[in-house]
Amino acid sequence: MTLIAENLKAIKAKIAKCGNTGVIAVSKNHGAEAVLEAIKADQLLFGENRVQEAYSKFPDIKKQFPAVRLHLIGPLQTNKVKDALALFDVIQTLDREKLAREFAKHNAKQEMFIQVNIGREEQKAGIAPEEAEGFYKLCTQELGLNVVGLMCIPPADLDPVAFFNALKEIRDRLDKNLKLSMGMSGDYEIAAQMGASYVRIGTAIFGSRNY
Ligand SMILES: *Cc1c(COP(=O)(O)O)cnc(C)c1O
Repeated sequence: MTLIAENLKAIKAKIAKCGNTGVIAVSKNHGAEAVLEAIKADQLLFGENRVQEAYSKFPDIKKQFPAVRLHLIGPLQTNKVKDALALFDVIQTLDREKLAREFAKHNAKQEMFIQVNIGREEQKAGIAPEEAEGFYKLCTQELGLNVVGLMCIPPADLDPVAFFNALKEIRDRLDKNLKLSMGMSGDYEIAAQMGASYVRIGTAIFGSRNY
């Protein structure tokens, strides 16, 4: 078994008891070979944070493996919306009104997650927690976007539990059926135990990234 296959197996064993948490393999800064190794180990969900980098790997891979589903997990400039919609199956970073309106203009049908800036960090993208409800209504009722969940990236150096709980509380207020995308390499077990629908895992699957 390759290291990537072993990592995937170990991660899935750890969260299996939590029920239904999907693992998104975050392949940013890793090449197509790494993605293909993961696919050989039955991994079909992938995440990329940049449109251009995703185009360097996934058009060929998706042609070869049509069951692969690609999630956008990084900030999107409005001038790249058209390209993003042509390649990504799910958008996890619906983070501002301008972007929402651009998606609506392009009649986007993709499943989308509203990114909530759960730690109110200045350097992070996302809707402020107190604005999540208004933004959700704008996206769904006015713009007709297919919002299926909420996504967050908690502050790096703090215990994530309070932030995961805060995201759940917002979800419960908006619609209990909304999914939750939360948890990365360092905290995916906690996130899965707390009911994450998706965890987004890069390093723990593919190893450290060389920038
Ligand atoms: C890079 C990234 C991840 C994966 O991070 P790891 O710590 O390597 O697991 C998850 N979510 C987002 C939004 C990312 O940009």
